Amino acid sequence: MSSAVVVGSGPNGLTAAALLARAGVEVTVIEAAPEIGGGTRTSEAIVPGLRHDHCSAVHPMAVGSPALQDLRLEEHGLQWRWPEIDCVHPLDDGTAGVLLRSVEETARGLGRDGRRWSALLGLPVARYDSLAEDVLGPLLRVPSHPLDLARFGVPTLLPATVLARAFATPQARALFAGVAAHAFHPLERPLTSAIGLGILTAGHRHGWAVAAGGSRAISDALAAVLTEHGGRIETGVRVTAARQLPAADVVLFDLAPVAVADILGDRLPGRVARAYRRYRHGPGAFKVDFAVQGGVPWRNPEAARAGTVHLGGTLEEVAAGERAIHAGRLPERPFVLVGQQYLADPGRSVGEVHPVWAYAHVPHAFAGDATEAIVAQVERFAPGFRDRIVGTAVRTTTELARSNPNFVGGDIVGGSTRAVRLLVGPRPTATPYDVGVPGMYLCSAATPPGAGAHGMCGAHAAERALRYLRR
Ligand SMILES: Cc1cc2nc3c(=O)[nH]c(=O)nc-3n(C[C@H](O)[C@H](O)[C@H](O)COP(=O)(O)OP(=O)(O)OC[C@H]3O[C@@H](n4cnc5c(N)ncnc54)[C@H](O)[C@@H]3O)c2cc1C
Repeated sequence: MSSAVVVGSGPNGLTAAALLARAGVEVTVIEAAPEIGGGTRTSEAIVPGLRHDHCSAVHPMAVGSPALQDLRLEEHGLQWRWPEIDCVHPLDDGTAGVLLRSVEETARGLGRDGRRWSALLGLPVARYDSLAEDVLGPLLRVPSHPLDLARFGVPTLLPATVLARAFATPQARALFAGVAAHAFHPLERPLTSAIGLGILTAGHRHGWAVAAGGSRAISDALAAVLTEHGGRIETGVRVTAARQLPAADVVLFDLAPVAVADILGDRLPGRVARAYRRYRHGPGAFKVDFAVQGGVPWRNPEAARAGTVHLGGTLEEVAAGERAIHAGRLPERPFVLVGQQYLADPGRSVGEVHPVWAYAHVPHAFAGDATEAIVAQVERFAPGFRDRIVGTAVRTTTELARSNPNFVGGDIVGGSTRAVRLLVGPRPTATPYDVGVPGMYLCSAATPPGAGAHGMCGAHAAERALRYLRR
């Protein structure tokens, strides 16, 4: 029987481990933290019974992920829940850009921009299932559906500010900018439409789902598949050197590239070691969980029904904020994402006290405290919010990186999303999962298709490992 070691139990590590175990490989997962899950953990940090997602919360990419679907996680306890409204981006005058699961209904709400929204997203959403084969993997390869990919691909090349200005209304412009800002990159740069369009297309196809009980349910279901097939998990062991790795036929690293360079040292070919050590991480996240009596008193009524609320004002303000954090400055009003997962999954609340998840985009390794900036940004669109706060749990960029070394400097998207990395991954190769040592693979969000709890990086790396084992 072949054997595998997977270092790191984030959604990518666990997906790789589950797929390898299901294929008959004897798998051991080694995890540094006391509990599994990486970016998919959930706990009761403020009030007993109130469930907060540490990191990933909303899952337009995971719910339709071919890898997670293939593993039939629903049979292992994972249940998806959908909010009534996927995402709202409020403006100061009380209006908002409103994103619904249906392209047509979203378009209807966007008034004179409706036709443009449908023209941009209608076809990619209709073709999403075949498109996913090409966009949820390395882009340097022959596409399975070249025409669909070309139609989807042309707008992704544009800077998000240029694509947003194709809309006439401030609501549609801001709605697009807020989703594009998930890239943590200056929106004037080429290809910054790509991540926004990817999330919007997946979201219109599958909805911005949350996992019942918390994102932890994703890693629990993956671990259940793994153990059902004989796999083992060791927690509380941080791997820092190759000599710690048990003997195995293949090793997969669910880690940041620099950690792989540190662990493998001289065993890595020089060109790979140089690329991994030069690998750049982007700006950080500053996370605050709130316990809120009665929920957030949004001025815009649709925001009170939305799973996600983007706070950053107009397109111009969002773009200025992203430029500032990229240049190392915290703007007075940073871009803030608010999650109200309890609306779709009421079991996370305790009576009328609700868990509200929020993070701000901040500079890389930001050393200050952004809590007040986050509260002020919510208060701006929901006067009276401050008075409803029952408790908070704060995680700075340093604490995020301490709880998970993959989040280097608080970077939660696995590396800078500049164009070259989006296209080729951590180094210029058609096989970005290979680390250059036979039988060893990188499977973290630093590889295509990048950040998210979709497990696709792990699935592609597991496929390379299985091919090696069967050679
Ligand atoms: C605040 C925040 C909000 C987010 N929101 C969303 C969202 O809404 N939707 C979404 O899809 N994604 C979201 N993400 C991103 C998502 O969590 C990540 O993209 C995803 O978790 C990456 O998965 P991974 O398996 O590559 O790595 P990770 O989840 O980072 O897991 C890596 C694991 O490896 C372990 N590890 C690291 N070093 C070592 C070592 N040396 N030895 C042993 N173990 C080690 C870590 O402890 C960790 O458990 C968010 C992240 C954060 C932090």
